[in-house]
Amino acid sequence: MTLHQLSYYLFPGQCILCKKLTRRRLDICLACEADLPWLLNCCPYCAEPSTTLLPCARCLQKPPVFSATLSGFEYRFPIDTLIHAFKDRQFLSSGYVLTHLAYRHHRQTLRNVRGEGLLVVPVPLHPRKNRARGFNQSLLIAQQLANLIPAKLDKSLLTRVIDAPDQKELPLAARKLNLKDNFDVTRILDGNRVLLVDDVITTGATITEISHRLVQSGASDVVVFSVARTPPSQPNTGALLQ
Ligand SMILES: [Zn+2]
Ligand SMILES: [Zn+2]
Repeated sequence: MTLHQLSYYLFPGQCILCKKLTRRRLDICLACEADLPWLLNCCPYCAEPSTTLLPCARCLQKPPVFSATLSGFEYRFPIDTLIHAFKDRQFLSSGYVLTHLAYRHHRQTLRNVRGEGLLVVPVPLHPRKNRARGFNQSLLIAQQLANLIPAKLDKSLLTRVIDAPDQKELPLAARKLNLKDNFDVTRILDGNRVLLVDDVITTGATITEISHRLVQSGASDVVVFSVARTPPSQPNTGALLQ
């Protein structure tokens, strides 16, 4: 990431949160890193934050089409602020640091997932949104992740075909409807495993829709990676306790 490298030379190891020098090759100090809302207990399928490591009631009832979700953090302060700074103010160091930490959190699993034919695939933005923002944040995360694993990046496997209204403004049922025919897989896969990359997972509607299309197009397995996962609206105490 050229801009990140440039900022590193200009401000070597400055913490993105407390602004102190970090004395390490990462722009976050050890104290701020330890205080982040790491995602430790969650559903193994959809990574919804929980108090246990058991599948959530929803996934237990209907296992999702993707086999696992690897998320680094709960989507709450300061992760939400850092991700907004990354997406909306092009504060690339913030995206770089969070991706690096989320990768490290799941390094062992990602090593197990790695194998011949693994494709690292970002969730695409609609071209119009991409032009307005100047970049696709999921592509930057996927690029960095593909370098770290290492694995092959495939940034043209998925395309977004309809410009949907902002998902956040719609109720869940409408979100699913709204996503219909929203993504295309551009070629047939040869049993590849796909690591599908997004910045934040909220309802899981987008990754569910894309994973269906990937499997229909010949993917053998889809594993999802995201920097952050939103907490449930109701506290999730694990399927056995509900
Ligand atoms: Zn700090
Ligand atoms: Zn779940």
